[in-house]
Amino acid sequence: MIENYFSADDILEFRIWMRYADRFVVISHMAPDGDAIGSSLAMCRYLKSHGKEAVVIVPDPAPDFLMWLPGADDIIVFGSAPDKAEKLVYKADVVCCLDFNVVKRIDNIASSFLYTKAKKIMIDHHPYPGATFDVTLSHPEASSTSELIFHLICALGDFSRIDREMAECIYTGMMTDTGAFTYNSNNASLFRVVSRLIDMGIDKDVIYRRVYSNYSEDRMRLQGYVLNEKMQVFPEMSTAIITLTQDELDRFHARKGDTEGFVNLPLQIKGISLSIFMREDRELGKIRLSFRSVGSVPCNILASDWFHGGGHVNASGAQYDGTLEEVIARFHEAMKAWKKSDSESIKQLFRKKQKKR
Ligand code: MN
Repeated sequence: MIENYFSADDILEFRIWMRYADRFVVISHMAPDGDAIGSSLAMCRYLKSHGKEAVVIVPDPAPDFLMWLPGADDIIVFGSAPDKAEKLVYKADVVCCLDFNVVKRIDNIASSFLYTKAKKIMIDHHPYPGATFDVTLSHPEASSTSELIFHLICALGDFSRIDREMAECIYTGMMTDTGAFTYNSNNASLFRVVSRLIDMGIDKDVIYRRVYSNYSEDRMRLQGYVLNEKMQVFPEMSTAIITLTQDELDRFHARKGDTEGFVNLPLQIKGISLSIFMREDRELGKIRLSFRSVGSVPCNILASDWFHGGGHVNASGAQYDGTLEEVIARFHEAMKAWKKSDSESIKQLFRKKQKKR
């Protein structure tokens, strides 16, 4: 049996909208990942199976390794077609907000989203959901938003409408948000969902290769450079960092998404439980930071208290207004505070520091 995250009461309003609304827009977060795109495409296809008008809108393009997903060619990128996208959001009866918890995550879609009179349903697994939504289905304990879409469709009594294409989208989101089921996935119910998806005819091995074995030569060489020259390990703090300047990224002709996954690499070193990746982003004019940790090390506290970021306990992000040198200096300051503390819990340490400021 598959335990469902949703009761009939949870989705009562959505059920009513499904009955009376015609125009649906599905939106997801900037720099969309496998879960954002997978959950959105599955939802869109499901809505269309009910004869609804439905379209997926994201702030900026999805990475190449997701463009094979069924329906990906029909995704509207707000940045590339702002007028068209804006009109669709204004005219929508219902906007489904997938895989994000606060409006700032949808970047350039935010103003039309806030202006539209459409009903807004949020389906997401990030902690601390914002209050902008008419219906909030927030389950931080779920592996992915894609898994939640599976449960939503089942709770609506439509398991039989899930076809192979939808199953491929849902599986891709579940796989990418769990590092191919290597973290945040120790849950038997999740594998019962996977087994249903395989029953529907997906080929999980093919999906894995399409997503993870899709690098350019430049990207592989950039990874070699990063590990050899740019990774600093601080064994006494169980921590490692990787830094990259825009010039270095240019030297390897880095394209969007090429640095994806770098932050996870240091965690493969024995004894390392915290990893931070910092890179210059010329377009953004800021430093992008990614944080990953293992077990009870709360990298989201480090991200929020020191870098104005946030996220999950083991996976967080931040954008820092300053130079790479400043961010690195700030990291060392944080580590110094950590070292000085006699508390075993990094969490308490960073909380203490925050109070002092
Ligand atoms: Mn997600």
